[in-house]
Amino acid sequence: MLKIGILEGDDIGLEVVPETVKVMKAAAAATGLAIEWQPLPIGRKGHESHGHTMPAVTVEALAHVDGWLQGPIGHNAYPRNDPTWINPPLRKKFELFASVKPVKSYPNLPSLHKDVDIVFLREVTEGMQSGSVVFAGTGEFRPNDEVSIGMRVVTRKGANRVARAAFEIARTRPRKKVTAVHKEPVFRLVCGMFAEECRKVAKEFPDCTLEEVLVDGMAMKLVMRPQQFDVVVTTNQFGDILTDEGAGLVGGLGLAPGLCIGERQAMAQATHGSAPDIAGQNIANPYSMIMSGKMLLEWLGRRRGEQRAVDAAQRIETAVERVIAEAKHLTRDLGGAAGTTEMGAAIVAAI
Ligand code: NAD
Repeated sequence: MLKIGILEGDDIGLEVVPETVKVMKAAAAATGLAIEWQPLPIGRKGHESHGHTMPAVTVEALAHVDGWLQGPIGHNAYPRNDPTWINPPLRKKFELFASVKPVKSYPNLPSLHKDVDIVFLREVTEGMQSGSVVFAGTGEFRPNDEVSIGMRVVTRKGANRVARAAFEIARTRPRKKVTAVHKEPVFRLVCGMFAEECRKVAKEFPDCTLEEVLVDGMAMKLVMRPQQFDVVVTTNQFGDILTDEGAGLVGGLGLAPGLCIGERQAMAQATHGSAPDIAGQNIANPYSMIMSGKMLLEWLGRRRGEQRAVDAAQRIETAVERVIAEAKHLTRDLGGAAGTTEMGAAIVAAI
């Protein structure tokens, strides 16, 4: 039995998350997987019911689930300077240390390249991103008005666990190849430590291969021949940039799912935001959220040795591929005319 939280988020989150739950329920029913679902307040609705966008009741409940669906948060429209209106820092709170982002092209959908199938892992608890590198403060400071200083942190533990997660994913894929992206010849200590840990972990996965590519060359190789990459692992800021580049290779936000993983739990979260411009119109593309839910099932299934969850994930992937190939029930951003609920229902029917 898996326990999965449902956090709808704001705006189109209220539309794409329910479709994702329907699809996951259908896949679970088809494979005999038992899931206990737990809807939890977050975002604007959390504020309406509990006076906070990250209610304490939600944080407490999340400690006891295996994973959760996190819809997008429309935090840009929240009142400023009010501590009850925050973008819920769930990634940090639950130490979800890696952001996993697959980038996949489909033959009949427009994209810059065909035959792309990459999974990016970006370390997200350290590196250069100011908020994540320090316990208090921001990791940036300005000693006088002429000088600004930012810190970059790499730890053996942080590098080792993201490298390990990359090899664990690579092992489940046909090519079994990990590309570690860094710039060790220049950043001898920080990138050096990241590279050392990747090499160390690689020795534990003799069935996989490790290659190392410098980040500037990687930016170019991704644009020119992305087909050569399988699993790509890198530090926070490099990953921030490369994952967006990756999404751009295959059609952008509509086709950009994601999973934030920790030691014990994972959070399914699409790359796109809450899209207030199209919210409430039943036109949002549910693909990214649905495929994020599929990733959650697959990851939990492998972690917990629950084959039915892995099978349920496979069913979702096959159903999505079929609906895309048939091209009869696609939302308008994918060139179709279907609504969010029609596309969701078509995927359920294909399952
Ligand atoms: P956005 O991703 O919400 O939207 C950018 C554009 O892409 C819009 O034109 C939108 O209509 C379109 N789009 C996004 N998702 C789509 C989908 N599923 N189907 C069809 N079209 C889609 O980015 P934004 O407009 O910069 O941000 C909107 C809000 O979301 C802001 O409050 C921002 O702070 C927030 N945001 C939240 C997250 C998150 O919670 N993970 C991520 C990014 C932005």
